[in-house]
Amino acid sequence: RELPGDAETGSRRREVLGAAWSQVMPGPVAAPRLLAHAPDVAAMLGFDGAAVQAPDFAAVFAGNALYDGMQPWAANYGGHQFGHWAGQLGDGRAISLGELLADGRRWELQLKGAGPTPYSRGADGRAVLRSSIREFLCSEAMHHLGVPTTRALSLVATGETVARDMFYDGHPCDEPGAVVCRVAPSFIRFGSFELPSARGDVALLRRWVDFCIDRDFPHLAPGPSRQADWFAEVCTRTAAMVAHWMRVGFVHGVMNTDNMSVLGLTLDYGPYGWIEDYDPDWTPNTTDAQGRRYRFGTQMQVAYWNLVRLAQALSPLFADAAPLQAGLDAFQARYAADERAHLVAKLGLGEYRQGDDALMARFRELLHAGEMDMTLAFRALPDVDPQRPDAAALEAAFYSPERRERVMPDLLDWLRRHAARVRNAGLDDAARRAVMQAANPKYVLRNWLVQQAIDRAAQGDTGGITDLLEVMRRPCDEQPGREAFACRRPDWARARAGCSM
Ligand code: AMP
Ligand code: MG
Ligand code: MG
Repeated sequence: RELPGDAETGSRRREVLGAAWSQVMPGPVAAPRLLAHAPDVAAMLGFDGAAVQAPDFAAVFAGNALYDGMQPWAANYGGHQFGHWAGQLGDGRAISLGELLADGRRWELQLKGAGPTPYSRGADGRAVLRSSIREFLCSEAMHHLGVPTTRALSLVATGETVARDMFYDGHPCDEPGAVVCRVAPSFIRFGSFELPSARGDVALLRRWVDFCIDRDFPHLAPGPSRQADWFAEVCTRTAAMVAHWMRVGFVHGVMNTDNMSVLGLTLDYGPYGWIEDYDPDWTPNTTDAQGRRYRFGTQMQVAYWNLVRLAQALSPLFADAAPLQAGLDAFQARYAADERAHLVAKLGLGEYRQGDDALMARFRELLHAGEMDMTLAFRALPDVDPQRPDAAALEAAFYSPERRERVMPDLLDWLRRHAARVRNAGLDDAARRAVMQAANPKYVLRNWLVQQAIDRAAQGDTGGITDLLEVMRRPCDEQPGREAFACRRPDWARARAGCSM
């Protein structure tokens, strides 16, 4: 159903009924230039070094050319945004080029920022360099942190500017544009199922579910419980993903159902952020400042709320709600189990015992009260000697001497309790420390680190991007000489802690 076209962007806006996707071509750009690529992802997809440097690589991944066999499309989906049903959304600035089979695995290659689609709703379908750098780097950082995520292959400058609401000296200014190629087995979202369901199109809903199971969940046995098993697996994968976010201090920032992958992959890196001075109420999303729906500490509850929306969307396929409720219960169970597994590893306890939840909860309380850096504080724990516990290793985690002063007696008390628990576990010291270090990364993608890479890139220097990509490939290893990537947020960065898309 055609809606009035948008003269300015030339996009043809429409309501797309009875269809899950639309054929669409990426819009060509003036001067594609490869700024960065992820060598791991390129190798995984079968691109060698020469293929990446060939001019057609930048052309294809800017949207100017297609490899043989590519038939681009934009997906249709809806979503609940900030708690409200938003109707049709769809890929407004994402265009999938095709699927690539490599080593028996199937990968969808998707450009973000390659121009308008039928789902652009009057916007330009483009992405600015800064948000593209953020998505490119964080996709890869999350993967190497052991968090399920979409990946990123390439970051290509378009040689064109994009009109955005950034202001310099009071004047609006255009920003350089870029295209990221993101990579995942599929980009199917909760909203992919919500849209046909909201429209009462049960036939399309059923086809979507069958297609998704056949393609992305082929291990599920055919039979009467197949759809219920599938929903339960969506629930448990989502639980595992969010438990990892809490482990590493990641805040997604826009957990709308159109940004929730049914594969349980972290999807759509917009105004995400990382916890530095510990505060469960912090959100990086400045547009969410009022409702603060998407805070660090509420991510598990929001994920559950989103799964309830998905369950409601799927309900026409089920005779009664019991199987869907069972899936939601599986979410709770999996989250609780993973949270425990992570706390056991982060605190070096060997196995879970009663009271360990409280030990962790108390540590998080102290991080908050003491305004301590989450990453540095957890990373310091393996360096505390359980025979003679003191807070020396944690000194670097404090942002404020006053808070340090205030919390120190309780912190020392906690460190002694923790040390007693560790001694009681009777583990080999070196093995325990290795487990703790693997669960407590030294390097995370702090916003100001990315901002420095963005500032350099704006001056034509992509070295900051490749440096960060390299550091974040081994986030749990000690990397001598790279201490500057593992320190507290400097004062200059505090005012810029929030971030826009
Ligand atoms: P997001 O908050 O990034 O998940 O975006 C919500 C919806 O808006 C999605 O359907 C996007 O495709 C669409 N969207 C965001 N930015 C743009 C843009 N610059 N041009 C077209 N569509 C956009
Ligand atoms: Mg989105
Ligand atoms: Mg986005």
